[in-house]
Amino acid sequence: MSINRLKKKFRRNARRLVKRINYSRKRRYNRRRNRSYKRTHSSEYRVADGIYYIREYLAYNKLFFAGFILVASVICILVSQAAPGSRFRQWYYTLTHKETINKGVARDDEVKDISAGVGKFLTMYRYRKIGETNPEEIDPTAPMVAFTFDDGPAAHSTERILNALSANYSHATFFVVGRQTEQFPELLQAIIANGCEIGNHTKDHKNLTELSEGDIEQQISFVNESVSKATGEVTTVIRPPYGAYDDKVMSILDKPVILWDVDSEDWDSRNAQMVCDKVLSDVKDGDIILMHDIYDSTAEAVELLLPKLKEQGYQVVSVSELAQYKGKTLELGKAYGKIEP
Ligand code: ZN
Repeated sequence: MSINRLKKKFRRNARRLVKRINYSRKRRYNRRRNRSYKRTHSSEYRVADGIYYIREYLAYNKLFFAGFILVASVICILVSQAAPGSRFRQWYYTLTHKETINKGVARDDEVKDISAGVGKFLTMYRYRKIGETNPEEIDPTAPMVAFTFDDGPAAHSTERILNALSANYSHATFFVVGRQTEQFPELLQAIIANGCEIGNHTKDHKNLTELSEGDIEQQISFVNESVSKATGEVTTVIRPPYGAYDDKVMSILDKPVILWDVDSEDWDSRNAQMVCDKVLSDVKDGDIILMHDIYDSTAEAVELLLPKLKEQGYQVVSVSELAQYKGKTLELGKAYGKIEP
């Protein structure tokens, strides 16, 4: 069939459709005119008129009807996704998970939050659109190092370090001590909120090899409880003070032990430029770098270091992330100074 004939046929059908609608409306109008003035002018009749018109139209044009259903479905789905805790989603979840809920596999109050997935997709799409990779995404094949900060959290410097990390899409592990965790619970929360990790650096910063078993346990559990009370999170790794441990200490510690490969000597120099130079001269892929978030000079050094490391192709992550991206599982009873693939 030629395109002109198709066009003609389409026009003919459209004309018929308009004619039919006009006819039915006219007929209805005439019917109504015979009724009382008051009844025909009530809003009930105007609504009924609209519905009748749509039904008439839909019955005639099946394709339009299918399209209408499709659009309505999409709107329904979008609306249901817009509200994560909505009744519709709850209902839909219960409906689709009936079997697993009855078997106790799924919880009936558990609604999958897909907004995180949608957000991730939109971020990916946005960066792809401007031709850049998402700076928050870690490339496991590219070099990376872990920043670790001991002896905090501290009032001013920890916050400054967190800001620098966040501005450079970087993470770190903070090995916290007991007296500081009790004093600054809000800093512990800020560490977690910035996607960083909290490690245990004991309650009183004592040499664990000189303590009794009971004292070691107490030094560790105090920080664990303090951190979970403040953040609801658990400490994931331990750094014994002075990096000192022996077989007895190791048998008591409840998390993998993290030491370091690069010592920034920030406690000694207290000079940002010297800390920066020391790290840059020693750094290599998989290194764990030791710093202390209790000095302003260290915070300044971090601000200098992060862009420079990025220039050299390094990604800065927390210890657990370093292990994860290098495909290593941190094991209990082991001590790690660096993590190589
Ligand atoms: Zn320390």
